[in-house]
Amino acid sequence: MAAHRMTAEPRLVQVAAGVHAWIGAGGDSNAGIVETPHGLVAIDAQQTITLGTLFRRSAEASLGRPVCRLINTHFHLDHIAGNPAFADVPIIAHQRTLALLHGMLGEGTGWSVADAATKLKLFFGGNFSELVAPDDPGATWFEARVSGPGYEVMQLLAPSETFADMLALQTGRDMLVARYLGPAHCDGDLVLHVPRAGVVFLGDLLFVGRFPWFGDCDLAGWIARLDSVMAMDVGVVIPGHGPPAGLREVAAFRGLLSDVLEAVAAAVRQGWSEEAVVAGVRLPHHAGLPRYEAWLPANLRATYRALRR
Ligand SMILES: [Zn+2]
Repeated sequence: MAAHRMTAEPRLVQVAAGVHAWIGAGGDSNAGIVETPHGLVAIDAQQTITLGTLFRRSAEASLGRPVCRLINTHFHLDHIAGNPAFADVPIIAHQRTLALLHGMLGEGTGWSVADAATKLKLFFGGNFSELVAPDDPGATWFEARVSGPGYEVMQLLAPSETFADMLALQTGRDMLVARYLGPAHCDGDLVLHVPRAGVVFLGDLLFVGRFPWFGDCDLAGWIARLDSVMAMDVGVVIPGHGPPAGLREVAAFRGLLSDVLEAVAAAVRQGWSEEAVVAGVRLPHHAGLPRYEAWLPANLRATYRALRR
């Protein structure tokens, strides 16, 4: 499977009996569907209400069943902004996902967000303004990302049900097991496993064909979570961004994360300052990936700070 293959339109792809991936256009966020006797369980809600509605309608039309539940893999806006398209069904997430939303938006079950600073926190983490100052030359990329159609005033909807460690939904012939393995890409990241089908949905624990965002991650924790994933008996791995993959892509991605961690750790051992790390650490093996230029500086800054804590 070509790692860099991108689609112009989002599309539903069957990856096993009763299990489908909704692959975002051009590397945009993915979603998924697991069929159950109670209806379709949707996984993630896309980056706008329009795209969330398109995902839901397309899945219901092609599978001939209504959606009965939605699960959010994590709180980042490109995975939850479409939640209002699922307002009539339970929306499930890890309890930390809801706590993070409450921390940024205040208590409540829904919010209207118009200011860019809040959208940036929701997209890239609560520490975003510490990583990318408004006068940073790199800030314009991020400001553009939260502007444009669908991003003017964002109506957000909170998860309605949460859990702490593990939740199993019965699908009839199989199960959909949602597990929280610990802090990783942000916090509250869920790993969604359909064991008999041999499929796992990783949310943003895996990016395929795109340099990852790790400004608000726990990098050592993320690498440890990927080690747990690689011990799973699965044949198909659905990333948060990019085409369906397998454990080989998980191993390669783990390598990318550890390359960054080791490069920054080596610079710290040599006494480099934070600014020297941001200006001077480069990952030539990964430089061809989309988002490398835009995201590397903030990722390096976050990694340096985590290592110096
Ligand atoms: Zn994310």
